[in-house]
Amino acid sequence: MVTADDRGRTGGLPGVLKGLATTARTALRPTHTAEYPDVAPSLPPRSRGVIALLEENCTSCMLCARECPDWCIFIDSHKETIPAPTPGGRERQRNVLDRFAIDFSLCMYCGICVEVCPFDALHWSPQFEYAETDIRDLLHEKERLGAWMPTVPPPPALDERSAEPAEVAAANRPARGTGLVGGGAARPPRTVRPKVVREQPSTPPQDDP
Ligand code: SF4
Ligand code: SF4
Repeated sequence: MVTADDRGRTGGLPGVLKGLATTARTALRPTHTAEYPDVAPSLPPRSRGVIALLEENCTSCMLCARECPDWCIFIDSHKETIPAPTPGGRERQRNVLDRFAIDFSLCMYCGICVEVCPFDALHWSPQFEYAETDIRDLLHEKERLGAWMPTVPPPPALDERSAEPAEVAAANRPARGTGLVGGGAARPPRTVRPKVVREQPSTPPQDDP
């Protein structure tokens, strides 16, 4: 069966006119080409450009490295003993980060590492201009990852009616045994949980024998 389109193609003139009309329409449309790198693109502030590391927050828990589907996060750490703060107290141990590196030649920008980090040590920065001529230079060590931190946009403001963040609620909780809040700050707790008094069921009257 010959369709109208086929007639247009085989008939010649109507098809040519249609094509010319499309060309004319497109030629008169304003251009959307961005002249990068002369004109910087206007990207959304939360674009996934590069991953920044806030080293102070990292506890070397290895969660990000274990969850990374590309195995492109490299972490080395050692344990350090912290002396007891009071005589007779117990010594404590903490992890010290020796190496944290991300190989951006393998990274697929899935964001899993940023999502799973329990200590907010990894953040997205919209910076994307770190192309290299040598692929080995795409391995960013912790100093370079940390240098991206100033380019991380601040988090969006919380909704006024949203629930209090868990960290703030924990800080406002009364310290055990002191009756004070926030680990000793003289400030009344903001949230007081009402005590639930359960009514005891009354004993049913006993029938006389
Ligand atoms: S964004 Fe994804 S692939 Fe890249 S380092 Fe994080 S978890 Fe790995
Ligand atoms: S960046 Fe986060 S998830 Fe990764 S090791 Fe450090 S604290 Fe753990």
